[in-house]
Amino acid sequence: MLEAPEALYISEQLNQTIKGKTISFVCAGYTPHKFAWFYGDPTNYPAMLTGKTVGEAHAYGGVIEIDIEDVRLLISDGTNIRYYAPGEKLPEKHQLLVAFEDESCLMGSVRMYAAIMCFPAGSFHCDYTPYREKAIRKPQVLSDAFDKTYFLSLINSEEKQKKTAKAFLATEQTIPGLGNGVLQDILFKARIHPKTRICTLSEKQKETLFHCVKDVFQEIYQAGGRNSETDLFGHRGRYIPFLSKDTAGKPCPVCGEDIRKESYLGGSIYYCVECQKINA
Ligand SMILES: [Zn+2]
Repeated sequence: MLEAPEALYISEQLNQTIKGKTISFVCAGYTPHKFAWFYGDPTNYPAMLTGKTVGEAHAYGGVIEIDIEDVRLLISDGTNIRYYAPGEKLPEKHQLLVAFEDESCLMGSVRMYAAIMCFPAGSFHCDYTPYREKAIRKPQVLSDAFDKTYFLSLINSEEKQKKTAKAFLATEQTIPGLGNGVLQDILFKARIHPKTRICTLSEKQKETLFHCVKDVFQEIYQAGGRNSETDLFGHRGRYIPFLSKDTAGKPCPVCGEDIRKESYLGGSIYYCVECQKINA
């Protein structure tokens, strides 16, 4: 699943690749998918998009949104977005095909579940609205607005004190686009166990955690994503996580202790028992 650093990377690739192109053909919902969510009837998408010119792409958390004149095309995390140059062989299955006048095209295919939503700018009313609004309104981790003061205001707020580190960082969209994947290395670098309660963290640990959030996001972005994800051209990211399903049971790169895997809060957590102790 794409997380914020990857969505940002892909949005920039979109700006370098399809911005300014004119749309000549659109097909949405071609291959049936139970968990592909569209905005209204996808058979309306061709009329909304065809003949229009692609504008700026933005990343909000893990969501990518493209300005296309008076409409917006939202592609959520959980969609593989690929660009195909003219003449490249296209996959047979897809939930979104946007072709351009130069015969290049953009394709979206939903993995487990995802939203592919085309809607008039300024008018977005559906079940997905609160999720999108939160992601847009909150400071993006890699922006200057996400600074130490802002992070401390989040972590010091009353309702977060009883939460664990994983619950605080990676649930309820507290930090849009920070999900269970990116989480693991942030906590590993901060030497904080995922089940540590926020109220037990020292001021120094909170500050370290802030820097680790920023640093891990920056590293993943610079590497073009994690190696589990692919970019707009189908290239795998170069960021190799310290903690993931690939390193579970292997020695910790810092101390040599085994890396543990456990189920926790709707997903696996990975940690080193030696480096990431739960605060007393
Ligand atoms: Zn260790």
